Amino acid sequence: MKKNLETLCVQAGWTPKKGESRVLPIYQSTTFKYETSEQMARLFDLEDEGYFYTRLANPTNDAVAAKINALEGGVGAVLTSSGQAANFFAVFNICEAGDHFITTNSIYGGTYNLFGVTMKKLGIECTFVDQEWDDERIEAEFRPNTKCFFGETISNPGGNVFDIERFAKMAHKHGVPLIVDNTFATPINCRPFEWGCDIVTHSTTKYMDGHATQVGGAIVDSGNFDWDAYGDKFHGLTTPDESYHGLTYTKAFGKKAYITKAVSQLMRDLGSIPSPQNCFLLNLGLETLHLRMPRHCENAQKVAEWLEKNEKVAWVNYSGLKDNKYHALAQKYLPNGSCGVIAFGLKGTREDAIKFMDNLDFICIVTHVADARTCVLHPASHTHRQMSDEQLMEAGVAPDLIRLSVGIENCDDIIADLEQAMAKM
Ligand code: PLP
Repeated sequence: MKKNLETLCVQAGWTPKKGESRVLPIYQSTTFKYETSEQMARLFDLEDEGYFYTRLANPTNDAVAAKINALEGGVGAVLTSSGQAANFFAVFNICEAGDHFITTNSIYGGTYNLFGVTMKKLGIECTFVDQEWDDERIEAEFRPNTKCFFGETISNPGGNVFDIERFAKMAHKHGVPLIVDNTFATPINCRPFEWGCDIVTHSTTKYMDGHATQVGGAIVDSGNFDWDAYGDKFHGLTTPDESYHGLTYTKAFGKKAYITKAVSQLMRDLGSIPSPQNCFLLNLGLETLHLRMPRHCENAQKVAEWLEKNEKVAWVNYSGLKDNKYHALAQKYLPNGSCGVIAFGLKGTREDAIKFMDNLDFICIVTHVADARTCVLHPASHTHRQMSDEQLMEAGVAPDLIRLSVGIENCDDIIADLEQAMAKM
């Protein structure tokens, strides 16, 4: 039976049989028992399917991956130990030393660093483009060794909305897949596969969990990209993998080639899996994602409108505001609301901004975003402090930018807290 997103949030992934636990059980076990040596051998020869070691597969983890896969409408998903791991593996699954890929300069600072510094050390080069550039200028950055284009549905912390359809068409024109980090929108507000994106990633640490209890990530494969059509480019998928019984992923797994390689090669060798306990917590969060996201958006919209009218506020960036630069794109991709994250700047000095944050009552300063509790952060002094002023400006992170992650508390209380903190500035 075809189910809607709300039902999938609650029900997908775990369907107990007679006498089994109603709630998803935590299989907190590294390994799984077999009765004969022959049974175990058949698993290793890929002749039988079954669990044998949690680094490769675990029933709790698989159930939660299946739920996220259902929510995004993919053919398969894998969970990772963090959003960083998800983004790394999503790209590394098709890029190797000597390869190149393209992303936008407004992506999350941690991803910026991963792509621009750490992956460079592995011999993989990344070009950062401004999504405001015209097609011709961006297309000039594609090279024969370019293997993918990467973007964030809603950038952290700038709140830029990514034009998924435009970049999917551009990537496909150049024979590469589009990977989209859908962390801030979540599949409740945007399903990138419907706009031509090929692979979705998540930091499940954020709204999907929603309660700040676990760090995790996910990669979801749409199954739509035709790797064989560009076989030479994606030889890791289209030629035999000696480390995996000489199997060719596209031949053996068809539409699931990419996600199977991510599990059976990258997870096997690099092992960034989440614990079953963390997956259990993530699943609890997912069960209410469809209830929390509309409330985050409703509260954020009211707070953004209040900030916009406030004389102490220099500027507000929230795509739900009518005169926002990304409003039209948000209406197209995020018609039910974007997320709870607002970026704004206060009039005055950097010290005034710090004073304002220190004066807040229940709104906390935390290095986190996108959970049920309203929180605040100054990226230039916290998450993005590794970036130069020039890089900050390029990424759309003004030095005075305050990132306010609006939670699901009573909105009048949130506004009252902001108001009393501003009064004391
Ligand atoms: N992607 C986005 C959009 C993020 O905001 C973050 C973290 O803030 C990440 C990826 C990295 O995720 P994690 O902190 O789970 O490693």
